[in-house]
Amino acid sequence: MTAQDYIAQEDRHGAHNYHPLPVVLAEGRGVYVYDVDGKQYFDFLSAYSAVNQGHCHPRIVGVMQKQSSKLTLTSRAFHNDQLGPYEEFLTDYFSFEKVLPMNTGAEAVETAIKLCRKWGYEVKGIPTDKARIIVCGQNFHGRTTTIISFSSDPNAKGNFGPYTPGFESIPYGDVDALRAALANDPATIAGVLVEPIQGEAGVFVPQDDYIPSIAAACREHNVLFIADEIQTGIGRTGALLRICGDCSCAGHCERQSTYTRPDILILGKALSGGTYPVSAVLADDAIMHVIKPGQHGSTFGGNPVACAVAREALEVVVDEKLTQNARQLGHLFRERMQELVDRHPDTLRLVRGKGLLNALVINDSEDSDTAWNLCMALAERGLLAKPTHGNIIRFAPPLVISEAELREACDIIAATVANL
Ligand code: PLP
Repeated sequence: MTAQDYIAQEDRHGAHNYHPLPVVLAEGRGVYVYDVDGKQYFDFLSAYSAVNQGHCHPRIVGVMQKQSSKLTLTSRAFHNDQLGPYEEFLTDYFSFEKVLPMNTGAEAVETAIKLCRKWGYEVKGIPTDKARIIVCGQNFHGRTTTIISFSSDPNAKGNFGPYTPGFESIPYGDVDALRAALANDPATIAGVLVEPIQGEAGVFVPQDDYIPSIAAACREHNVLFIADEIQTGIGRTGALLRICGDCSCAGHCERQSTYTRPDILILGKALSGGTYPVSAVLADDAIMHVIKPGQHGSTFGGNPVACAVAREALEVVVDEKLTQNARQLGHLFRERMQELVDRHPDTLRLVRGKGLLNALVINDSEDSDTAWNLCMALAERGLLAKPTHGNIIRFAPPLVISEAELREACDIIAATVANL
């Protein structure tokens, strides 16, 4: 079958809920993916930051193969010999007392919302069905009915109502707006749910004091601070978590002064190095104890393959110093892109980001095709990236990328922009 045949087949038989670049991939290794004709590309999307450890990392794949041939699924009706060791490892790694394992990011966000509301009723004493959670405009937390209920994207939300009530949106990055929202009947506010950098919105990086200010304001009003690090976590922004701030440790956070501890931490994507759907909600006993047997769960959550894979994926992050690499190469990438912006102000507006989560904003309107055409031209030259919100291109390569590879990728971007 040709690439066109595969695309036509998807078009005929699959729901049209995505608009992919017309590239059909068949293999991946490290920072590279290969299409069905054997053409090599730099992957500068990393499956929306899930493949931080690189495609088909041999250690992660090895563990997955070994565990898959031993025991794949027990459900949580019984114990398995991978769950306990994984839970101890993960809670130690991120310094929380408990974890609740799930599969996808959206499920983990749903879990955090349920946990937060239940804590609100049973610990804080919010009257039944009155709990409110504060969220931010332009958020992206997933695609379930409850989550899109508090989306501000008409595309994500339109005609999926009726929506779940109990959420209030404030502008992202605005501490005064948060303080005002928290001052309005704080006795009914259970939590504040925030992405430390808004990835899907177009890599919006708030001021450094934004996250610490949220945490402080939440503490003041006995409100839970929930950090969604599904896209920003596991080394992507040049720190283990974005809430680590400018902590320069290579793996485990050493609790430097820049770290802001959330009450609930949500992880997904790179928790498995992109090999398997693994997500997690971390919190201390005082919060997690509100969930009792039968009140929440998932058939696949905490399955033996997921546990083995996630443990290895996190060990790879430390062993290969991926946070440090993301930090160093992130500086280099933005430097190179800034030169490009300065050279082509008619085409490019700005570059922004942290670590290896960056975006180039195209100097055109959201409904123009410039960003799409640039991505098509980049693909032609062997680099894959995807526009978000029409005029923004996110660049997020696997964190295993070397300096030479990053320089080569920057050369491709520069040549493509120059010839657009
Ligand atoms: N939260 C954030 C910040 C995300 O970026 C995403 C996915 O892009 C999600 C949640 C949803 O994750 P999933 O697609 O695995 O459901």
